[in-house]
Amino acid sequence: MSDTHLSRRQIVAMGTILGGMSVAAPLSAQSFGDIMGSAKKVVDAVSYSDEEMAAYFDQMSAQMDSQNTVAGPDDPYGQRIAALSQGLENYDGLDLDIKAYLVEDVNAFAMANGTIRVYSGLMDQFTDDEVRYVIGHEIGHVQKEHTRKRMEGALQKEAALSVAGTASGDVRRLASSELGALFSNVITAQHSQKHERQADDYAFDFMQANNYDAQACVTALDKLDAMSGGAGGASGPDWLSTHPSPRKRARRMRKKLA
Ligand SMILES: [Zn+2]
Repeated sequence: MSDTHLSRRQIVAMGTILGGMSVAAPLSAQSFGDIMGSAKKVVDAVSYSDEEMAAYFDQMSAQMDSQNTVAGPDDPYGQRIAALSQGLENYDGLDLDIKAYLVEDVNAFAMANGTIRVYSGLMDQFTDDEVRYVIGHEIGHVQKEHTRKRMEGALQKEAALSVAGTASGDVRRLASSELGALFSNVITAQHSQKHERQADDYAFDFMQANNYDAQACVTALDKLDAMSGGAGGASGPDWLSTHPSPRKRARRMRKKLA
């Protein structure tokens, strides 16, 4: 049992203290301090600072970059992603690192450390402005903290399962199997409709703020809708399976444009 866990007796005692009830036999100052110390450790164990969070995302993006081919400056995809994201080195307070993967999937993702990766399979299907919509949408998931909350949840679960536990302030070096599991729980899990709407609204504002054609929000979603039909109801492209209901979302974006 790690020292971050309160004993049953301590929890009962703390409940009494925090409940503000009069305690028949007052606890000594020493034991009160112990309890509060332990309570703080419990709180620390389940929350992560921005720096710790970024350090975990750094490990995750390094792992992804090592497993996929990043389009370099001499590659046509590398040149295109650099050109279409020119001026986006920083947006809305987030330093962005936008690169393309030479992977045929129709996919893209963003991490809370500002890593954005767009797959060449998506770039083949989408115009520059449509790729920008996807980038804006992914930044939206980061800025609305959808990504961070998932990461926090996954790390908490991981810490709870881990025998060693994860002490606060200690950024653990995660094994590649752990990073792979985190990636699928944090990045490739499906978003809720509410989160999709928030990310789409963010993307719409992102397009207008950067003087990109906001019409691309609609045309990109129309294309995804057509792709889902083409897949005959089977699992569509990756970005589609994690970002559902393109038809409904296209309708919303059309209304915003009008
Ligand atoms: Zn989304």
